[in-house]
Amino acid sequence: MSKPNKPNKPNKPKNAPRRPAAAVTPDSPCPCGRADAYRDCCAAFHQGRATAPTAERLMRSRYSAFAVGDTAYLMRTWHPTTRPGGLDLEPAQRWTGLEILGTTGGSAFHTEGTVEFRAHFTLHGRPDSQYENSRFVREDGQWVYLDALPSV
Ligand SMILES: [Zn+2]
Repeated sequence: MSKPNKPNKPNKPKNAPRRPAAAVTPDSPCPCGRADAYRDCCAAFHQGRATAPTAERLMRSRYSAFAVGDTAYLMRTWHPTTRPGGLDLEPAQRWTGLEILGTTGGSAFHTEGTVEFRAHFTLHGRPDSQYENSRFVREDGQWVYLDALPSV
């Protein structure tokens, strides 16, 4: 009972952890859902080349930061009074899309704003979503996340 050897066949372990879907690259469509490539969109905020001009752009860039795993950006765009001591992202969670449902204020002429959104993700491969009406304030000219308004 011998089979011919197939020396070039890679030895794939069964039940290997699933690789993340496609990783975000600079040329990828930005995870936040705008038409620009990641490089020309939220990456500019993540890398400190620019700051988000509106509360909605900050919200989108924070969603993208979750998608690319940039916890440092999430922390520095979190208001110091509500920022957690640390942030661990769930490795089994994949962010799959962002819907902006509504905004108030949040422009260059405001110091406060809200962004209502639904963020879609999969957790261990199962689709789910998170709804939030987030409150943002502008501190020293930069939008930061304050907290979530209670659901009505
Ligand atoms: Zn973006």
